[in-house]
Amino acid sequence: MITLIHNPQDSFAAEIVYKALIRSFAKNQVRKTTFDTIQTQELGVYFLINPKNISLQQFPKKSKIILLGKIDADLAVELDIELSSSEKPHDYFTENAIIHFHSIDQFQFPMTARPFIRYDFPNEWNNLGFGAIKTDDSIWSIAQIAQSHTAIATISENKTTSVYITFHDFSDQSCVWINRPVGLVDSVNWCFIEYFVSAHRFDTLISYAYLLDIPAGVNAAVSMRLDCDEDILSAKPLFEAYQNLNVPFSLAIKTSLPTTELDKDFLHCIKNSGGAILSHSVNHKVSWGIDYHDAFTEAQQSKITLENHFEIVPLQFAVSPFHSNTTYSVNALEDAGYDGFIGGIIANDPEYLMARGGAIPFAEKIISHSQQCMLHGDCLLSESDPLRIYKKAFDHAYTSKTFFGYLDHPFSPRYQYGWITEEQRITAHIDFIQYMRSCTDVLFVNESQCLQFMIDKSNAEIHYDALNEPKICLNAEKQSEFSVAVSLNHKVFS
Ligand SMILES: [Zn+2]
Repeated sequence: MITLIHNPQDSFAAEIVYKALIRSFAKNQVRKTTFDTIQTQELGVYFLINPKNISLQQFPKKSKIILLGKIDADLAVELDIELSSSEKPHDYFTENAIIHFHSIDQFQFPMTARPFIRYDFPNEWNNLGFGAIKTDDSIWSIAQIAQSHTAIATISENKTTSVYITFHDFSDQSCVWINRPVGLVDSVNWCFIEYFVSAHRFDTLISYAYLLDIPAGVNAAVSMRLDCDEDILSAKPLFEAYQNLNVPFSLAIKTSLPTTELDKDFLHCIKNSGGAILSHSVNHKVSWGIDYHDAFTEAQQSKITLENHFEIVPLQFAVSPFHSNTTYSVNALEDAGYDGFIGGIIANDPEYLMARGGAIPFAEKIISHSQQCMLHGDCLLSESDPLRIYKKAFDHAYTSKTFFGYLDHPFSPRYQYGWITEEQRITAHIDFIQYMRSCTDVLFVNESQCLQFMIDKSNAEIHYDALNEPKICLNAEKQSEFSVAVSLNHKVFS
């Protein structure tokens, strides 16, 4: 088993890491427990949040151990890490600190460098998709200042440095320390965890297969949508460009918009051409509303309008306004009958910004997929390649086998999202699609297909046959036309 162990006071961080582990390794391979009930005799992979009074000697030979957050002095000695006893991260680093990631034998981080925080659009969106690393002693913060020759990721700012990740191969165990309680849950570098658990020293240590974030048989998967906060019909020229490229098109609709029969016909035209329609709430309130009841009304009413008035049946999925989701909004969406939602943003609700799609913290059944890449005229670069950041975002997704999603908005007389003309916008979209298509076997799907795949992934269990080959069992009815795949020791099985 993969066992996550935490202190009772770290249960919030533990839920976030637990669901991240489930998204990659499937529910049946992961369990969560606390240090006071710890059983470490069983061979397995152990994740420990803020471990205290623990020695690696307690764990059996052939096990793998991942330490998250604060480690104590004894463990630091065991790992040859020099802890700074007095300095706090915020005395050392600001949001401009950079982490450099170094490759190890069989693994290269898809993102070799990142700042703690970055934005492409006013303190809100990070088109490279990752979440914020903080210095505030929260679960999103660097936990300690430390130095070690075993570092494989190092933080630096001006002349100050600290370890972010250390890596230790002992004769009969391997161990990783990530200097943040939630580890790598909110960036593509999460795939390091999948590598470490599934393939590192496969012949000598315990390993477990993980679920691929993209369907079986493809090298990449991509979905897009426009969030219709303004005029729905203004999406038509871009939709036609996508049709010419044979790329599915999706629209998320704010249902309080004034609409006509022409809008309704247009939505059916999108659906009939292989696209998808999603809810984008009624009134576009932050977090769907000021409390659970407000959020529930928004979620329910927009679903009813899309199903009854627009005849989009069933209306399964939503895109959260501003990508803002508090736990009550997520619970309201689930109770209003949604199966999943798109969210994930660096500015707020970090627990719902996830490296992988599927199960989410503090909810039972509803799934989510993070799509933070906003293709807007005001985010294009003025020098060299205007699409450079977007291409980098796709490259990160491609190398980490992350299901990639991006968004834009329709025009309106009020707001054009930085696009100068429709032609300029269409050209940028086409250029971006052609860049993604230059890779082989890239699957383009609509947002419903993306989220249906994530539902199957969250319902998948991983079992092993007599030859230790992984087998996938779905414990619910299959929703997606695509199949889930797993990887063990760099081999893919489906
Ligand atoms: Zn919106």
